[in-house]
Amino acid sequence: MELTHHSRVAIVGGGPAGSLTAYFMLDIARSLDIHINVEIYEPAQFAAPGPKGCNHCGGIISETLVQMLAMDGITLPPEVVQRGLDSYALHTEVGSVRIHSHLPEMRIASLYRGSGPLHRTTGEEGEKVVYQSFDGYLLGLAVAKGATVHPYRVTRVFRQGNLPVVSAKGIEDRTYDLVVGAVGVNGGGLKVFDPSALPFTPPKTTKAFVTEVYLGWEGVNQYFGNTMHVFLLRMPRVDFSAIIPKGEYVTVVMLGKDLNKEIATQFLAHPTVRACFPAEVDLSLKACQCLPDVSLGMAAPPFADRVVLVGDAAVSRLYKDGNGAAYRTAKALAITAMIHGISKAAFTRYYRPACRALYWDNVIGTAVFLSVNLFKRVPLLTRGLLRLVRQEQAASIANKKMSLVLWDTFTGSNSYRSIFLRCLHPVFLARLGRASLRPAGDAVADPPEPPTTLAGGSAG
Ligand SMILES: Cc1cc2nc3c(=O)[nH]c(=O)nc-3n(C[C@H](O)[C@H](O)[C@H](O)COP(=O)(O)OP(=O)(O)OC[C@H]3O[C@@H](n4cnc5c(N)ncnc54)[C@H](O)[C@@H]3O)c2cc1C
Repeated sequence: MELTHHSRVAIVGGGPAGSLTAYFMLDIARSLDIHINVEIYEPAQFAAPGPKGCNHCGGIISETLVQMLAMDGITLPPEVVQRGLDSYALHTEVGSVRIHSHLPEMRIASLYRGSGPLHRTTGEEGEKVVYQSFDGYLLGLAVAKGATVHPYRVTRVFRQGNLPVVSAKGIEDRTYDLVVGAVGVNGGGLKVFDPSALPFTPPKTTKAFVTEVYLGWEGVNQYFGNTMHVFLLRMPRVDFSAIIPKGEYVTVVMLGKDLNKEIATQFLAHPTVRACFPAEVDLSLKACQCLPDVSLGMAAPPFADRVVLVGDAAVSRLYKDGNGAAYRTAKALAITAMIHGISKAAFTRYYRPACRALYWDNVIGTAVFLSVNLFKRVPLLTRGLLRLVRQEQAASIANKKMSLVLWDTFTGSNSYRSIFLRCLHPVFLARLGRASLRPAGDAVADPPEPPTTLAGGSAG
């Protein structure tokens, strides 16, 4: 079961996973001198502000993904990248610290998946603020490689004989040689797959929270600059929260278990969070906001003969770098489909390992976040962590172990396995133990706290 000259491929969903699958498949087809027809079904309007074009996300692109894309010849244009972030401020109940990227080239990008928040201004600095969508950009790359886009929502994918059929509002049913489900976990896209096409259990999900706060270009520069703010606060059900500076807005993201507006309101009213913003800014939940689903598991199984899931619909990375997971699964799928075939057996042998690697790394990630929660709850450990990072950041220590572990944990730039193994290193544990057990006020243990907000000194 293979794709040959003039084979027809439908990709349901033109988010990062769908567009990158199309891009890589067409790229490989060209080098094999095969012509395939790739059709992407995507109803979202990525050029529109607000929900019409948004795929609900913090909009952080890890440095690993920036580099992987660059190796494939994809350089994110300045209109897409809202900011290059070179540091982050970690806020806890007992203090804050700023962690700088360890290498000048290690920058993460912040961007919008659609074209910025609902009711966005045209920019107080005029042309300085451009809201070009990341998803729209990737979709454009797929089209440039030869993909066709149908701006329709798919209502059903079923099997007739051996071949999958796609039903969509707006056009007649079409039969394909391969159907790729790149529908993510929001918007009910996984429900369109009839058991005749793909008998599977969808990935587990939970509710996250995202909102945008307008500060204006100067306000974002003055209060946040190129620093992402990460919060480890003792709030029930919240595992991780962050404020991500962009053009004229900052994006507030909260991840945890079944979050809701009440928890988001409590978070925004927390003194440590409030201290990051100018006093006059209204943080009540009026602006562009949503409670999207976030993927926590893996579809089982994510494929059958001629039908396969990719990106969030198949498996993502726990709390981090979902776009990186979309890239990895898209590339593995494109190689499998173009080189090894489109049967269940080919997917099991060549595509499943990429999905399983992400799944097992997430299992370790769960342990990493359990440890992060322990640090939040035990002030002795939180203080030890802050001291160690402050010592590392103040001195020119070559091996900034704790800073690196935290950078990788919160930016998604490395696997959870690598983070976990580094945390078990005896030198790391000894340094952390020493920093935690030194008495408060010890001059060696407590270098002066550097400012973590640009305008307001150190918060928390
Ligand atoms: C709160 C939150 C914050 C996040 N922050 C980050 C972050 O900072 N960095 C990061 O890397 N990842 C982040 N993620 C994860 C990231 O958003 C996802 O991993 C990524 O979007 C997955 O891409 P995808 O293409 O698989 O799915 P999606 O981006 O969800 O795209 C799916 C596409 O399918 C389309 N679709 C759905 N149903 C149909 C249908 N029936 N017919 C046709 N089209 C359909 C949709 O319109 C959509 O465009 C975050 C996720 C959440 C929930």
